[in-house]
Amino acid sequence: MSTPNLSWAQRDGAVNWHPFTPIKTAGEAVAIVRGEGAYLYDEKGKRYIDAISSWWVNLHGHAHPYIAEQVYEQLRTLEHVIFAGFTHPSAVALSEALLAVLPENQQKVFFSDNGSTAVEVALKMALQYAYNRGEKKTKILAFRQGYHGDTFGAMAVSGRSGWTEPFAELLFDVIHIDLPTAENLPEIHAFIDQHADQIACFVYEPLVLGAGGMIMYEAEHLDALMRYCRSKGILLVQDEIFVGFGRTGRMFAANHLTGQPDIMCLSKGLTGGTMPLGVTTCTEAIHEAFCTDNVYGTLFHGHSFTANSLACRAALASMELLKREETQASIARISRRHEGFRARVATHAKIRSARQCGTILAMNLGSDDKDSYFRNQCKPVFAALLDQGILLRPLGNVLYLVPPYCTSDADLDYIYDAIIGVLG
Ligand SMILES: *Cc1c(COP(=O)(O)O)cnc(C)c1O
Repeated sequence: MSTPNLSWAQRDGAVNWHPFTPIKTAGEAVAIVRGEGAYLYDEKGKRYIDAISSWWVNLHGHAHPYIAEQVYEQLRTLEHVIFAGFTHPSAVALSEALLAVLPENQQKVFFSDNGSTAVEVALKMALQYAYNRGEKKTKILAFRQGYHGDTFGAMAVSGRSGWTEPFAELLFDVIHIDLPTAENLPEIHAFIDQHADQIACFVYEPLVLGAGGMIMYEAEHLDALMRYCRSKGILLVQDEIFVGFGRTGRMFAANHLTGQPDIMCLSKGLTGGTMPLGVTTCTEAIHEAFCTDNVYGTLFHGHSFTANSLACRAALASMELLKREETQASIARISRRHEGFRARVATHAKIRSARQCGTILAMNLGSDDKDSYFRNQCKPVFAALLDQGILLRPLGNVLYLVPPYCTSDADLDYIYDAIIGVLG
């Protein structure tokens, strides 16, 4: 085969349009040709520590041999089958495995392809739940700085920003609230009261708002808000797409809370970062509202690749790895290490509000304001660290680490020291 005398990065530039990437200033993409454990290797052989788990999806490292084996076996047995009227062992086994570890009120699993679709399904479930019961509830409650994905419904329930601006007029109205604190809870409750009978559901990222800037808030205040919503008949849609599968130090953010949601969205770490897959789980009561003699009560939603068997098998393999004692010990180890670094930089002149939740570590550099995401304040820091073989992708002025659980202490220390070194 004749290959043009160009690098993959050069050929990429001629044909590919990359996500969330301002084209004019982007420069060449780094072409990764191989991954192993916490490391990625580019076409020139340079090694990078994947300190953000490839956009928060990877749990056990790249090209994990056990997941690879399982997917290969599945591929040789059954690659995919229609999921309407048909099912397959990997989907059944995965749903059983998920329901065994999710809050006990979660009883049914609806499959889709990614995080955004998991949120779309959740919104449709909540809205049609009301519709099927003959209630007129069409409003949705969400956090002002939340992020739930890039499809239209998911965008609508996300915060309004430069990301959503071109579509602003087409996004349905959402009732936005601030993150709960001990001080503002009464105010938020009073505000919810004004609309309560029209609100179908409250959609929220528990404990950590990821794309909004790794903003962290207290479980106790979320619990209070959840209790209030429940008392007003508002369904709780918990988006654990980012925080699920151990990121917060526990299996799910739900494990830090006393209240249980009605609907949950999972994706990202679901397959250990191997294949795209999303699930929306719900209580028996929600499922029950769709079990009706009226055919219009059906949830008419589905994707061609719903419950793809390769993705389900990858997820099953990842779940097995995640439950292993050594993985749980690694999660605890990384959380402790992060905590140590957070304490170390607490008074650093160039680092503000260093914060940590389990394996998620975040800090602000540069100045904060509404448009700080677009100011690329961390770009030089990002470039310098990339040079040193550390892959990060700051959110505006927010530098954060979300490493795969196989990341070694030596690599964590290397990253921490490099950050301090670059900041000077
Ligand atoms: C990433 C993310 C999504 C969207 O998932 P995609 O797979 O990127 O569509 C939704 N909610 C949260 C909290 C996320 O972090």
